[in-house]
Amino acid sequence: MQIKYVIKKSKRRSISLEIQGDCSILVKAPWFSTEKEIIEFIETKRSWILKHIEQTKRQNELAGNIGPFDEKRIRAIKRQARKIIPERVRFYAERAGITYGRIFIRLQKTCWGSCSAEGNLNFNCLLVLMPQEVMDSIIVHELCHRHHMNHSKEFYEEVYALFPEYKKWNKWIKENGQAYLSCVVR
Ligand SMILES: [Zn+2]
Repeated sequence: MQIKYVIKKSKRRSISLEIQGDCSILVKAPWFSTEKEIIEFIETKRSWILKHIEQTKRQNELAGNIGPFDEKRIRAIKRQARKIIPERVRFYAERAGITYGRIFIRLQKTCWGSCSAEGNLNFNCLLVLMPQEVMDSIIVHELCHRHHMNHSKEFYEEVYALFPEYKKWNKWIKENGQAYLSCVVR
């Protein structure tokens, strides 16, 4: 497979690669590097590049299937999320004997969930569009922060006790979450 790339030279010391949304590669290189060096560098990273191009293609395809989310659609998604997410929070909180403050559901640009020191929980409304296990994994993660305000071994032990498939669905959101965020019309 032919790898398409664009070179951008600047005052930097080493070469780095970025996969763009259109699956082309942006090569950031120092002023002094030659085309030959850059091509050799790309060749050493070939399998990494191809893997990431495949991922980007899958993301673009998924985004095409679920989006776009304009303002009207976002309002509907928030309404749905405000019904469903608090129910799931209550379910897991009762099961684990965890208390919490208020629940806020918003459209967030980078974050899926968070837990404040006061015990308030924040969730991204887009979670409601994903498989329920994904939403549950984020809810369990934030609830467990009520006992551990860190990502320690003890924290994850509690997460896995409450939601054994955590790893699988955490991987899912890492691979697919960006596609959901990219559907938001700004
Ligand atoms: Zn966390």
